[in-house]
Amino acid sequence: MDNKGAVHGRGILFILSAPSGAGKSTLAKWAAENIPGVRQSLSYTTRMKRPDEVDGQHYRFTSAARFREMIAEDKFIEWAEVHGKYYGTTWDAVDEAQERRQDLLLVIDVQGAVKLRERKLDGVFIFVMPPSLEELKRRLLDRGTETAETVQGRLDAAWAEISESSHYDYLVINDTLEEAQKELEYIIHAERCRMKRRRLEFDDFTMGQPL
Ligand code: ADP
Ligand code: 5GP
Repeated sequence: MDNKGAVHGRGILFILSAPSGAGKSTLAKWAAENIPGVRQSLSYTTRMKRPDEVDGQHYRFTSAARFREMIAEDKFIEWAEVHGKYYGTTWDAVDEAQERRQDLLLVIDVQGAVKLRERKLDGVFIFVMPPSLEELKRRLLDRGTETAETVQGRLDAAWAEISESSHYDYLVINDTLEEAQKELEYIIHAERCRMKRRRLEFDDFTMGQPL
């Protein structure tokens, strides 16, 4: 089989949300690099590029004017304003992964996840929690990408985001990274084994014979 890992008929959409600093980008990057058949979706954003980020690799960085045009052109399957900036996932990103039968990780905020649920998207919703608020603050500060002010804004937003977690299918607690990676990997494998996603293999076996 050449599309290693993604052995079901269509790619699965995994939606990964978490308060800022909980570790969802770290986990998504690890999954895309280590679990065959998984890739990470590339979002558009109007926020400033961080020094270690590459346009076209971490995000597609764009202007607010262009982003608004793309909204008007119905380019986005979902978009949201997060921490005062626009972020969005395009239909193209999702369609491309599905055509290639790859599983796609959408690392998006809780508002974006609500929009996808409203669209009745057949996705798997995973929420990532830090072990504590103190640890969340420490990770945000250690990451070195925020000012004291933006750290506080992200911590203030964390409660509202965590209160949305009950709508998700799975909860991964990112205490030690190794354990969280394992949990994410098990979820992906379990979802691939769902009866509804194994239909192609099942039909191959039975060759359409009534059982
Ligand atoms: P998010 O994408 O949710 O905002 P990041 O993936 O950027 O979070 O992680 C925030 C910071 O915490 C990063 O510096 C990352 O290296 C670190 N980090 C992630 N997971 C863990 C973990 N399990 N233990 C300690 N530090 C972590
Ligand atoms: P950051 O600026 O830290 O990279 O991301 C801020 C927030 O925006 C995170 O919660 C992240 O998951 C979210 N985000 C990133 N891309 C998208 C997207 O395409 N859509 C939505 N709704 N949120 C996104």
